Amino acid sequence: MSQFSQLTKQLKTPLTDTKKADFLVHINEEHQDELAMFIQAFANVVTDETTQLRLTEVYKEGLDLNVYSQATTKPQTYFLAFINPIEQITELKDQYIALMQKAATKLGKKTIKLEEQSFTLVDSHYVSRHMLRLVLIAPSNTPLTHAGYAYLFDLTTPKMAVTHQTQTDASDHNDTRQHCYYTLRRAWHSPLIQNTEDATIMAWVDVYIHGDTPGGNWARSLQVGDSIKSLREYPEKIEHLSHGQCLLIADETSLPTVARLLETWQNPTPPIIIAICNHADDITYLHNIRLDSDLCLTHISEQAQIIPIINDDTQDISSSSPSLTERIIAKLTAYEQQTDVKIDKVWGALEVNDTKELRKALKSHLNLPRQNMVLKVYWRRNAS
Ligand SMILES: Cc1cc2nc3c(=O)[nH]c(=O)nc-3n(C[C@H](O)[C@H](O)[C@H](O)COP(=O)(O)OP(=O)(O)OC[C@H]3O[C@@H](n4cnc5c(N)ncnc54)[C@H](O)[C@@H]3O)c2cc1C
Repeated sequence: MSQFSQLTKQLKTPLTDTKKADFLVHINEEHQDELAMFIQAFANVVTDETTQLRLTEVYKEGLDLNVYSQATTKPQTYFLAFINPIEQITELKDQYIALMQKAATKLGKKTIKLEEQSFTLVDSHYVSRHMLRLVLIAPSNTPLTHAGYAYLFDLTTPKMAVTHQTQTDASDHNDTRQHCYYTLRRAWHSPLIQNTEDATIMAWVDVYIHGDTPGGNWARSLQVGDSIKSLREYPEKIEHLSHGQCLLIADETSLPTVARLLETWQNPTPPIIIAICNHADDITYLHNIRLDSDLCLTHISEQAQIIPIINDDTQDISSSSPSLTERIIAKLTAYEQQTDVKIDKVWGALEVNDTKELRKALKSHLNLPRQNMVLKVYWRRNAS
């Protein structure tokens, strides 16, 4: 069945829910790549930089997607039919994910999976001042080489976790997050039992501990032998990094992806990395990688240029202090002038407002096609 149609007479019942507007804004701002994937998979339309894609309405039966191309002043509206019609907004996410899965399968791309997985903690220790490593026995289908493969962990597992927590944590429990994405830093076959039929997969998940927060408290509360669950899997979009001069921009939450990218780097050009940390001590995290010639071009990974930005440097925060985006652009410009390098591809993941500001600034600084500039939101700063 075709998921798209341009029929306007089709029965469509607009969903009435105040949260609908938030969904539309979020997808239009943060997920243009997915909209481009829908229109390519279901309508065979390949978009370019001049194409603007906008979801304009959510119906019980599907979504309206407007496609604005330079050639035409009026948008073309495509109706994207859900696989199963919905009755309320709570069902929207699942139908949107189902469409993504269908589109990705059609185009031969990896995408989000809704699958429960189980992990067992065998150790945890700090690998830099604020980065706590969880050493886990992982499911047998864990990907071994995909950098930036993230799991949505269920922070309510193990069920007895609440007894490890402080009273304050437990009483806050209902108001706080119950799920959190963390990236597979590395996964490998356990050498001890590599040749047995039931080869065990071991994995590292590195959690940035930054005070009294649900994700950090959960990670710290885990004890050896605890069984924890994940509910979804999300493969980061990194395919564009296989050629050309790449710029990677990461803070503590996305440094695990960058570390794994270096360990699996096959691109003949070494990347430039802008690493943003709140404390100078955590930059050492990136020095702690294991290069293996079976997985990467080791001599190229070793030549990666790391440009640190330490937030400690701006202790004297005043309204005239440069924003993170201004600091990134200043460092990048200085590097470009020193080396004459030309950036072809970008991957990065930061806080939501920093990501939005940086996206705009990098767009005008580098003028790259959309598919070559992937800047993701990994966390949200709450108003204090
Ligand atoms: C695909 C994906 C992969 C990710 N992989 C990792 C990973 O491997 N390791 C990892 O540590 N994180 C990772 N993250 C980010 C992680 O999910 C968020 O940092 C997490 O949501 C924070 O949860 P929390 O409970 O610690 O804080 P929240 O409940 O989100 O926030 C509580 C308070 O802490 C502040 N805060 C939150 N995060 C930060 C931060 N990074 N720096 C400073 N202040 C902060 C907020 O402003 C807020 O005031 C990933 C996110 C995504 C989307």
